Amino acid sequence: MKKLWVPFVLFFLLTLSGCSISESKESSNDNDKLQVVATNSIIADITKNIAGDKIELHSIVPVGKDPHEYEPLPVDVKKVSRADLVLFNGINLENGGASWFMKLIANAKKTEGQEVFPVSAGVEVIYLEGKGEEGKEDPHAWLNLENGILYAQNIEKQLSAKDPANAPYYQEQLADYTAKLAQLDTEAKEKFANIPSNKKLIVTSEGCFKYFSKAYDIPSAYIWEINTEEEGTPDQIKNLVQQLRTTQVPALFVESSVDDRPMKSVAKDTGIPIFAKLYTDSVAEAGAQGDSYYAMMKWNLEQIAAGLTQ
Ligand SMILES: [Zn+2]
Repeated sequence: MKKLWVPFVLFFLLTLSGCSISESKESSNDNDKLQVVATNSIIADITKNIAGDKIELHSIVPVGKDPHEYEPLPVDVKKVSRADLVLFNGINLENGGASWFMKLIANAKKTEGQEVFPVSAGVEVIYLEGKGEEGKEDPHAWLNLENGILYAQNIEKQLSAKDPANAPYYQEQLADYTAKLAQLDTEAKEKFANIPSNKKLIVTSEGCFKYFSKAYDIPSAYIWEINTEEEGTPDQIKNLVQQLRTTQVPALFVESSVDDRPMKSVAKDTGIPIFAKLYTDSVAEAGAQGDSYYAMMKWNLEQIAAGLTQ
């Protein structure tokens, strides 16, 4: 009788210990690493460059999608509820239009200043100029690399505050990463200084290049001013076409995160070709050129310079 029980008891003990190993593995992941949520792929990428594998990171708006308007999924609510730190852009991006992000953090019972922080803190804000939009903030501060450096510094500050044990690591990573961004910024300023003034105009669908224009001294024009308004109405297209008739700009651009049909109409009506796709509100798909903040900025700078010096 006794002997028969031995294998059964052994099996039972092994199963138990197996369970406890996998449970403790999972709970050590959950408990030990800082739980961080970023609202979009650009903020998530900057965060990854500073935090490496020291954190568990969830990025909300999928690559290639518009971060202005978004419908959070149940997984987003769950991740934000459990997060130690939630990083968002602010200045009228996720909190513009229907303000999906403010609803999300209210649902997840999180508070700005406690777990929730805008990475744009300290940016010199540029304001929208279109009818009905006056006085609203332009969110696209990251398209100036100097602001990208500020974003990285803000992210490091919040990571170090929530996870002081890893602060020296975050600070070291920040120094390396911002040196790389600063180098690219210097190259961009040199590159754009050489474009002839009659060709200096960046034409995109959304008017997202105001910060970029100011930083690199190259004006921009657009079909619609911000993605929360109607995108590509016949009037908006007509206005841009008229504006372009007075210029000698050789190239148009279209962003990866918008419908490209309105810009195709502009190309048809003006005879100016679309030169390239730019990454403005999202990084590129993993593996493609432009699949990080640094790489998308480098791609944009190169494509704009090439398009306008043809
Ligand atoms: Zn945008």
